[in-house]
Amino acid sequence: MAAKSQPDAPKTKSLGSIDNSGAATQGQWGRAWEVDWFSLASVIFLLLLAPFIVYYFIMACDQYSCSLTAPVVDIATGQTRLSDIWAKTPSVTKKAAQLYTLWVTFQVFLYLALPDFCHKFLPGYVGGVQEGAVTPAGVINKYQINGLQAWLITHLLWFANSHFLSLFSPTIIFDNWIPLLWCANILGYAVSTFAMIKGYFFPTNAKDCKFTGNFFYNYMMGIEFNPRIGKWFDFKLFFNGRPGIVAWTLINLSFAAKQRELHGQVTNAMVLVNVLQAIYVLDFFWNETWYLKTIDICHDHFGWYLGWGDCVWLPYLYTLQGLYLVYHPVRLSTPHAVGVLLLGLLGYYIFRMANHQKDLFRRTDGRCLIWGRKPKVIECSYTSADGQRHHSKLLVSGFWGVARHFNYTGDLMGSLAYCLACGGGHLLPYFYIIYMTVLLTHRCLRDEHRCASKYGSDWARYTAAVPHRLLPGVF
Ligand code: NDP
Repeated sequence: MAAKSQPDAPKTKSLGSIDNSGAATQGQWGRAWEVDWFSLASVIFLLLLAPFIVYYFIMACDQYSCSLTAPVVDIATGQTRLSDIWAKTPSVTKKAAQLYTLWVTFQVFLYLALPDFCHKFLPGYVGGVQEGAVTPAGVINKYQINGLQAWLITHLLWFANSHFLSLFSPTIIFDNWIPLLWCANILGYAVSTFAMIKGYFFPTNAKDCKFTGNFFYNYMMGIEFNPRIGKWFDFKLFFNGRPGIVAWTLINLSFAAKQRELHGQVTNAMVLVNVLQAIYVLDFFWNETWYLKTIDICHDHFGWYLGWGDCVWLPYLYTLQGLYLVYHPVRLSTPHAVGVLLLGLLGYYIFRMANHQKDLFRRTDGRCLIWGRKPKVIECSYTSADGQRHHSKLLVSGFWGVARHFNYTGDLMGSLAYCLACGGGHLLPYFYIIYMTVLLTHRCLRDEHRCASKYGSDWARYTAAVPHRLLPGVF
């Protein structure tokens, strides 16, 4: 009721000086203020389709040994019916519900109750209380950065259980994979719905809310910028970084354990997937402070896209390679394995170095060396919602002079390596590279649109100096 009594458009205007013109001098963060029909159609399409995509992939592995076409062929030829497939799908169980509740509660405990101690003894690691980027309303949030600690404690307990305690089987995640999917969905929808209600009725910072007047768009892309409960429970940092990403490596370990149980060994492909993805996950936690300045945290609002996405999409679809290898224990030839390893490491190197160069450049305000030289700079300025004028700099050297998002290119090379580790038998493990290509290309366009609005002609000077987005000479 209160939601209806708050007219959207006037509220938007009252929040600050941002208008919808996209004028160069106005600050433009996060999602749109007005929804065109195409965005709305995409949002509704995704809201309806994404849960089925996840279900389809996991069901295809469970019932059709990871063949994506076999279920369709079976249904088309009348050999099976949708109801038969559904009847064979495990439903939620008490055990899965208990496991999932325990898991999320434990991660909340690690997040809230254990202030970071890793930064006290790990040289070079930045943890503890850190500041995020300035929000559109001009707020600077503080975060307790303790993700590495949460990851280490969780994995130490996992290994202690596998090697000494034997309280549960290391295959426990695989064995409950579909019942856990329903639990993850319940949490994903619950948190997104809660975030929506909270945005309308008791936002953490009303000036950092965005309302488009379209329910579906608000639900999907979020209203609140940084919803919090209390001083420290930050929805974006917790859901983006904890239940899903901490679980990622555990899920892979559980798949490896299942492969050993079923096939008597862990293949080199499974080892490669585990190692390359563990590097990526560890990198995330080692650089958690840096992630406060990435698009997810400092530009996106918290809605279904992040809430459900972090609970369901990420842990279920980012781990498809390991799942596939349980059903297909691929053994790679040595040259193939070495090729995958090198591609994965090169991709990771580019991803990390490109991100590091921008971070170093921004932290030192350009007073640093990039590839051994003083960096080339484009000075730029923008106005935040409170009307304040800010100055910034764009880096034109190093990887940021090769292409405007070469960090995404490195990420894509690493993603391709995970897929290639699975050989050429099926399409399913290649979903990841297809998805990441779409995600990062769309993200690149979205980010560039935002930067063009934010920096205006200064951004145009950058695109003139560095004409390509992802691949020099191609795109
Ligand atoms: P970036 O780290 O590329 O950040 C983009 C922002 O950097 C821009 O909005 C702009 O922000 C600033 N910027 C752009 N160009 C320059 C420049 N030349 N010099 C200085 N600053 C510049 O984007 P993301 O946050 O999307 O990605 C971070 C990493 O996370 C990437 O490596 C990506 O691959 C990875 N990622 C992985 C995902 C996954 O699912 N595995 C999902 C998303 C990202 P400003 O307003 O401050 O100027």
